[in-house]
Amino acid sequence: MRLWNFSAGPAALPAEVLEQVKDELLDWHGAGCGVMEMSHRGKEFMSIAQQAEADLRELMGIPANYKVLFLQGGATQQFAQVPLNLLNGGKADYIVTGSWSKKALKEAQRVCGESSVRCIANTEDKQAVADGFTRLPAPSGFSVNADAAYLHLCTNETIHGVEVLDEAAFLAGVPAGVPVVGDLSSHILSRPMDVSRYAMIYAGAQKNIGPSGLTLAIVREDLLGKAAAGLPEVMDYQVMAKHDSMLNTPPTFAIYVAGLVFQWLKRIGGVAEMGRINAEKARLLYAAIDGSNGFYRNPVDVACRSQMNVPFTLHDAALDADFLAGAKDAGLLALKGHKSVGGMRASIYNAMPLDGVRALVAYMEDFAKRKA
Ligand code: PMP
Repeated sequence: MRLWNFSAGPAALPAEVLEQVKDELLDWHGAGCGVMEMSHRGKEFMSIAQQAEADLRELMGIPANYKVLFLQGGATQQFAQVPLNLLNGGKADYIVTGSWSKKALKEAQRVCGESSVRCIANTEDKQAVADGFTRLPAPSGFSVNADAAYLHLCTNETIHGVEVLDEAAFLAGVPAGVPVVGDLSSHILSRPMDVSRYAMIYAGAQKNIGPSGLTLAIVREDLLGKAAAGLPEVMDYQVMAKHDSMLNTPPTFAIYVAGLVFQWLKRIGGVAEMGRINAEKARLLYAAIDGSNGFYRNPVDVACRSQMNVPFTLHDAALDADFLAGAKDAGLLALKGHKSVGGMRASIYNAMPLDGVRALVAYMEDFAKRKA
């Protein structure tokens, strides 16, 4: 039986998509074999990959001067690949707003040298709360160097639940000409976003796109061709773009499932409709937390509370195990918070329906009543 799955990633996929995968698993559209078993260079798979890219371009409104790359190695590999492709002898600026952007900064410093990678804002505050990150810097609170090779930020911090909800306002002070690179792993496709505000976007697939093993990169063409000397070809965006992401064997099955997810998103009304549903889901859940008289608590500044990842603590951590055991009995999976933060986390990505959030809220209210 399928339960409501609040996993942070790999995360729930739309049931409709999984049904379709099941139907096509042994024989894709009369090909006589499944997608996992066919050549990536055959006409069947080429059509799958082209359709997936076309649907993604349509959904996100990706301008023609951006390449869409289907890569591997996870978003973590991008932490190294971004500076190795874009630094080009210059210096980059990083904004740190949670664990993932902190990791991105550290990896960039490790592979390209500390002096080439500047941290221009860091909202970590271990004094204020145990988990450290609960807010974004004010746009006036950081200043991006006009000579920066790029600015890196993570627009949704999956562990801390801090999201840039208004990219245009947040990035308004970035000097024109500084390319903005965003790690959108955990909220890509969750609502309309202006791709053209970024020079590059990357995202691991396993939250809002499809199975793990696929990493999406959307790169503006003028950023290509600046890779560090000696960079392996599979890590060079320009080489991958030249080969339509097929320099070597791509993660074919993950690309296929991602393509089905894109079609599902189009059927439900695209990112505009998805954004409306996601806003309602987040509203319901935060209302339950804020309306619990302190039984549940989310420490994040209201202006940047994530609509995808909702961490919360119980007023008494001694109740955590009880809460999780009861949740499982109520058909609610994977609510345990990340080990660095503790407490709970409900990830309510695109594939989590409103009904799943309603079930969680009903359980939370019942639990609080019983234990208050
Ligand atoms: N960035 C963000 C925002 C993430 O949520 C994650 C994974 N949870 C990563 C990067 C790392 O992704 P991967 O495991 O695909 O390397």
